[in-house]
Amino acid sequence: MKNNTVAAISTPHGRGGVALIRISGDEAVTVAEKVFFPSSGKKLSELPTRYSAYGKIIKDGEAIDDGIAVIFRAPNSYTGEDVAEITCHGGILLASSVLEAVFTAGAEPARKGEFTKRAFLSGKLSLTEAEGVIDLIDAKSEEAIKLAKSHVDGVLSSKIDGLYGRMKDLLSQIYVYADYPDEDLTDVGPEEMKDILSGITGELEKLVSSYDLGRAVSEGIPTVICGKPNTGKSSVLNLILGRDRAIVSDIPGTTRDTLEETFPLGKVMLKLTDTAGIRSSDDEIEKIGVGRAKKAIAEAGLILAVFDVSEGLGKEDREVIELISASDAAKIAVLNKADLVCGEEAIEKIKNELPDIFDSAAVTSALNGKGLNVLEEKVNGIFNAGTIDYSLTPVLSSARQLAAVKRSREAVMNALKALEDGFTPDVAGTDVEIAMSELGQTDGRAVSSDIVDSIFHRFCVGK
Ligand code: GDP
Repeated sequence: MKNNTVAAISTPHGRGGVALIRISGDEAVTVAEKVFFPSSGKKLSELPTRYSAYGKIIKDGEAIDDGIAVIFRAPNSYTGEDVAEITCHGGILLASSVLEAVFTAGAEPARKGEFTKRAFLSGKLSLTEAEGVIDLIDAKSEEAIKLAKSHVDGVLSSKIDGLYGRMKDLLSQIYVYADYPDEDLTDVGPEEMKDILSGITGELEKLVSSYDLGRAVSEGIPTVICGKPNTGKSSVLNLILGRDRAIVSDIPGTTRDTLEETFPLGKVMLKLTDTAGIRSSDDEIEKIGVGRAKKAIAEAGLILAVFDVSEGLGKEDREVIELISASDAAKIAVLNKADLVCGEEAIEKIKNELPDIFDSAAVTSALNGKGLNVLEEKVNGIFNAGTIDYSLTPVLSSARQLAAVKRSREAVMNALKALEDGFTPDVAGTDVEIAMSELGQTDGRAVSSDIVDSIFHRFCVGK
């Protein structure tokens, strides 16, 4: 199949020392050769692969810059296709001008993520590895870099490969057993099949639960800061953000809108929402804000409930507690305004009055910038951030991966149930096929031809 040739500037759009124009596709070298002329007098196509050549960049017959070009020949390139990379000086107009020359020479504009997509299509990267590349580029914390790197290195991919292989083996056993129940072609009977399915369910389960950490590190945990008016929610938000993002005011109920911000708190990313003070209100505008706050609570993964320790727990605080108690989110009680009370007594009192819906409590004095490290420690503790070696433990980091693994787990559980309910193994086989197809979607592989191959691989048809 012929691949059209695409090109784009691969360095950030802006002024810099150098800019890199990447060209990929069957005609990459031919295209580059019309633009880049090595000073050695050789043609670019005569250069050995991965050899960098210094030369002139020509547009409309004129040298517009000098730079470096490197050729990577398929399949030994990032995309798996022929690739040419031209590095020029990093001027915004200059880089665009070189790119234009490359288009005139026959390349088409590359779409978003197209080089990585081509790497995936040519089998250089699995889907999760490709996602890892994007996550690595987008990473906002060192922990997120480590997690993304493990995906690029194939830690998740090889886990999925292993599970897929186990399902494939099982399926071929199931079909052999179903087609020739009386012949001694396989030593795996329904009981062994159940054991294998339980084992796979357990592994899928582990992957599903890894997402709590993966999301916390990578995508960010939807976090809600709530509490009755004036407890210091905006101040706590600012404490976390380290700057005045939300307007702090001493008139109750003035934080009306829901502001959203993604920000690291230690190793965890928080998708922060500063909500309107939760309380019954006659004010129309504020009512809209309160409705949104309730929705945010329902969708949250972490709730920071802020209380004013100088006031103790009041009726409105209990209403807030009541409202958040139904949520599955992790909950931290933020005991704020600690500077206004003397000694530990008031803090201990409020701690004792708190119901056990809270995973932990953090004492802060947001106004004075105190308590951030405690809050960070508690939040990181809840999500186990920093305790896992990603190079050894596969961790799901996107909702897409989670959904596919969950669907696969459900199908494996259906297969197990079919066997437990006394159905013949071929009934379970249908579910295992579904489980493979779903798991395959995590890493983007075709299923049916694999199954067929595997069956014939194990099965001696002549028998
Ligand atoms: P919100 O309505 O819950 O968002 O509360 P704000 O963050 O707007 O704070 C309400 C008032 O309490 C403001 O006057 C803040 O300066 C004050 N405040 C917030 N945190 C603290 C704190 O830790 N100590 C003291 N003494 N005052 C605080």
